[in-house]
Amino acid sequence: MHRIAIVAALVLLAACEPVPPDPVRVRALVLSSNGSYVTQEVTLTTVTDPFRMEGSVANLLGGARIISDSQDPEIQAAQTEEQLANALIKSKGRPVSPNFIEQEGVLWPADFHTWNIVTAYYNFERANAYFNTVGNIPQADFGGPATVYYFPEFVLRDSSPEALKDNALFFAPTQSFMVVPFDELQRAPLAINSGIMAHEYSHLVFNRKVYGGARLPAPIVLWGSAGASPGANLVKSLDEGFADYHGFGVTCESTTGCDKIFLSTSFDERVTADRDLSKNDRCMDIFLRDQLNNATLSAFSGQGLEYKVGSILASALYQAGESTGQRKVLQRAIISAYSDQSGTNPGLQQLITLSLNDQLKFNLVSVTAVLVNHITDVPLKTAVCNELIDHLQIPAAELVGPGKPCPSAAQGGNTCPRLP
Ligand SMILES: [Zn+2]
Repeated sequence: MHRIAIVAALVLLAACEPVPPDPVRVRALVLSSNGSYVTQEVTLTTVTDPFRMEGSVANLLGGARIISDSQDPEIQAAQTEEQLANALIKSKGRPVSPNFIEQEGVLWPADFHTWNIVTAYYNFERANAYFNTVGNIPQADFGGPATVYYFPEFVLRDSSPEALKDNALFFAPTQSFMVVPFDELQRAPLAINSGIMAHEYSHLVFNRKVYGGARLPAPIVLWGSAGASPGANLVKSLDEGFADYHGFGVTCESTTGCDKIFLSTSFDERVTADRDLSKNDRCMDIFLRDQLNNATLSAFSGQGLEYKVGSILASALYQAGESTGQRKVLQRAIISAYSDQSGTNPGLQQLITLSLNDQLKFNLVSVTAVLVNHITDVPLKTAVCNELIDHLQIPAAELVGPGKPCPSAAQGGNTCPRLP
């Protein structure tokens, strides 16, 4: 064999080794301590090809078309979840092609979309790192690189003929993220807002752990098609509440520190205040409790009530984590409660399975028990019990006492007036 051929063969062999990619030094848009986004050098540690923005955490695809339409014959004909995904994705697009100017080993984005794309990848990487390190989720459990449709044409035809604008979301039926074009959003694009992208990444983790990666999660489909759907309303609320709490958790890992109002750079004051984690006076009220228990999933979600219940939950968890100084311990415990196959201590996925034929079994008491049973530290357990009993208006007698999950020291709180 010719010497060059031997060398080439050796190089090829070496390339088969699962070596981590070289870190890529790029400039991205990062929130500074004065509340504005500035260009900053960051290191991407999971990118294998920066010129396609591909890596082990995400693959970004441009030019995709995803159309959800209940009248679509292809969608109606779908027999499996895979077929449904294929029917929804009219065009899967192609790898994005960012433009860089290299300066002393650092890649500088050369146009706006490249800034947006690089920053989006960076934000996914940070969210993944949080769930891996703080959340203790092995990389293998994320299911490979997430597909991110960048500026797709995404139409939810049953609600609107127009393509979605000004949004970023995780779409379970295609198991992918959408970063849709902006139109009216005057503030920071969602892709550069680390907390928001982490909120969306939390939905992927929730889907994988609580719903077992289902494109059409059974509790949503089964429970949500009943008249009143308390279980479906609650599981949606948990998904949103945990996403806000983990979104906040990811900001705590940044150099500028925890941002309890991470929506503020992208949304107006009202939305920001509604979801401010540090507001400690959020309470379940009679209307919300009635809707949670008696509304259909479409009526509940149609009013955005999963965000209302979710933010009560998120701020209650925030208070418990901060007051005990055990934020990360709590965040890890919550994630460990998503699915628990020990057989002795069910997680949320297991509670759903046990409740599939009777969604009334999936309620604030049983869900709180699952969470609390995954916290070992007694003061933290007590704080979580107190905050959830208080803010979510759970009868203390259901959770505290012999054989119950909450320590006897837990009494609930008195921030919220008890509902009749
Ligand atoms: Zn969400």
